[in-house]
Amino acid sequence: MKKRFLIMATLVVGLGLTACSVDTSGLEDAANDLEEQIEGIEESADSLNKEIEETANSGASLTYQCPVDCDNGPVYDEPGPCVKCGEEMVIL
Ligand SMILES: [Zn+2]
Repeated sequence: MKKRFLIMATLVVGLGLTACSVDTSGLEDAANDLEEQIEGIEESADSLNKEIEETANSGASLTYQCPVDCDNGPVYDEPGPCVKCGEEMVIL
């Protein structure tokens, strides 16, 4: 009777461990998939940022403003020194 119980217990524990290890590997696979997806999203975000930067650098409709805002903050179409204070204007 005692032997049978031990065999049953061993079987149950063994099955439990097997089930657990299967579950864990499944979760690990899912985690790896998610990680790969996140990496892909990060990569596309990087390339999007580069595109935005390139668009901003080549954009024709940029506006510039004096960094110290000395003349009620007028904006200009072209970079250069502020006509009032001579500070290099910054892109808005
Ligand atoms: Zn100025």
